[in-house]
Amino acid sequence: MAARTPRPSSRPSRGAAIAECLMAMTVSALILSVIPAFYVTSVKLWQRDTGRLGAVAQANIVLYRMQDEIRNARRTVLSSDGTSVTLVLPTQAYDSSLGRKVNVLNASGSLTDGDQIRYYFALDPHGTGSTGGAVYRRVTYAGGTQAPAQLVADRVYPHLNPRASGGSTPAPVFAYDATLRTITVTITTAEPKPGTGTFAPREGDPQCRRCRAPLVRVPTLEHLEGEVQCSQCGSEVEPTAEVVSYQSKLLLRNL
Ligand SMILES: [Zn+2]
Repeated sequence: MAARTPRPSSRPSRGAAIAECLMAMTVSALILSVIPAFYVTSVKLWQRDTGRLGAVAQANIVLYRMQDEIRNARRTVLSSDGTSVTLVLPTQAYDSSLGRKVNVLNASGSLTDGDQIRYYFALDPHGTGSTGGAVYRRVTYAGGTQAPAQLVADRVYPHLNPRASGGSTPAPVFAYDATLRTITVTITTAEPKPGTGTFAPREGDPQCRRCRAPLVRVPTLEHLEGEVQCSQCGSEVEPTAEVVSYQSKLLLRNL
């Protein structure tokens, strides 16, 4: 019986070598072209905008997270003080062909009540004596079981929200307009500035850098919605934190 000669392995190994070489070239090309740009960008962000980016991200997270759920909600229940909103979502089921949850109709072609999602502001949840708080999200499933509360945004200061329609009181965190069927979400976050100084408190509430008095929002002629100022020194101050307010109107779609 003729012994089976091993196939010359030059071709596959050359192919493999070429592939390996190509991969190495691709990888090194990526490193050469991408990493320096990424490195420079990240350094810039850290040096210039860390504080602002943090506050903006906090405010954005709440709005992005809520947007889809408010749009899809069948009903909403607001607390009278505007610190919480409960969204009753339609019954949903996972559609494997779409890879996401979709609303489910009953036999008569109507939506039915499903999970309830409650967004709420809690004052000083860490018990540190803060004048701010955090926004949480908590799901109560259609069966009645409740998921643990999730932190959505920290360092939220509703008393620094813009003045509601130029009036004297700050806009509530959540407000419902029955005529337009919209929910207005107002989030004011504060991020300590990184350059506050060695001896300055880094994690405390935003305050006046000069006299350490708390900040307030004061309506002015130029800004009817109010300017963030020191409660003692007025407008000519630099606060210890970057204060960012976001207000968005989100539309309810389902009936
Ligand atoms: Zn001051």
